[in-house]
Amino acid sequence: MGRQLAGALGVELAGVLVGQGVAGLAPEAWAYGADKVYLVEDPVLGPYRTAPYARALVQLVKEYKPEVLLMGATSLGRDLAGAVATSLGTGLTADCTSLTIDPETRLLEQTRPAFGGNVMATILCHRHRPQMATVRPRVMPMPSRQEGRRGELVRVDMAFNEAEVRAEVIEVIEEKNKAVYLDRAEIIVAGGRGVGSKENFRLLDELAGVLGGTLGASRAAVEAGWLPPEYQVGQTGTTVRPKVYFAIGISGAVQHLVGMQTSDVIVAINNDSQAPIFKVATYGIVGDFREVVPALTAEFRRQLVPGPG
Ligand SMILES: Cc1cc2nc3c(=O)[nH]c(=O)nc-3n(C[C@H](O)[C@H](O)[C@H](O)COP(=O)(O)OP(=O)(O)OC[C@H]3O[C@@H](n4cnc5c(N)ncnc54)[C@H](O)[C@@H]3O)c2cc1C
Repeated sequence: MGRQLAGALGVELAGVLVGQGVAGLAPEAWAYGADKVYLVEDPVLGPYRTAPYARALVQLVKEYKPEVLLMGATSLGRDLAGAVATSLGTGLTADCTSLTIDPETRLLEQTRPAFGGNVMATILCHRHRPQMATVRPRVMPMPSRQEGRRGELVRVDMAFNEAEVRAEVIEVIEEKNKAVYLDRAEIIVAGGRGVGSKENFRLLDELAGVLGGTLGASRAAVEAGWLPPEYQVGQTGTTVRPKVYFAIGISGAVQHLVGMQTSDVIVAINNDSQAPIFKVATYGIVGDFREVVPALTAEFRRQLVPGPG
């Protein structure tokens, strides 16, 4: 996305690396399209803390004056982007689903769901620079990696003083048992209110098992207590972009669609032929999931799992 925006503006695309011992990541940024990488390294930047990271970004912006500054809407990115935008006195559009350049005004058109996801709003930042936006992981396609593509490395020296940082990281605890990585899943079998009960999710779990996929859920299914919140797909859940997304007993409310409609293939199973989910589906099956899902599981098992002998 950054590459396309830079192309539309006729400017360079630069990456920023802030941390300690992160210089080795510069080739990654070049391989994915960056022309330049600004590198700020310091022992104080070892563990992530808002204040010194924000200071590094703010100083880089003041020195190199980008027109646009993009960050990932990860936990870290959300924290940092707000602090940087506040220090610079500029605007920030969080969780954008599309970014384009108006060729006449050169303004960044930042589109995101608004009013509970019922409308898509395009936000412009007329007077302040840089124009800042965050984008959730997986919302936009990854460009293909260009092995061996090289760019320029600009090492920027800044003096950091540990005594000036008020926050101290005492321990970093890895979330080892986080079972669900929906945003990285290649196959998701998601169920909604139409699945009817926690027990019925067993049918979806069997289909996911045969395909090597993971379960997902609409908010209605999560609120009913059939799956834990980390399985929720959508505006207030995870944004996913799997190769195949099964939407089973899910009506296709806009808040669900914004989290999954860029999946490569969408298979919708619903007993209401008018359900909005069919508008985004690659394949639609009208029927009761209690009949359709076991039939699919049996057929996939026959095709994918080698039988005895
Ligand atoms: C601010 C806000 C944020 C939200 N965030 C999210 C979010 O992140 N994710 C999300 O999912 N929702 C979110 N919602 C809720 C969203 O608006 C919908 O209410 C929700 O997605 C509906 O879930 P559903 O499709 O499972 O249920 P329903 O809309 O009730 O649909 C159930 C479907 O199942 C079908 N069905 C019933 N029985 C069967 C059967 N036996 N076989 C096959 N099909 C059957 C029905 O025809 C129906 O289409 C949000 C709402 C708001 C206001």
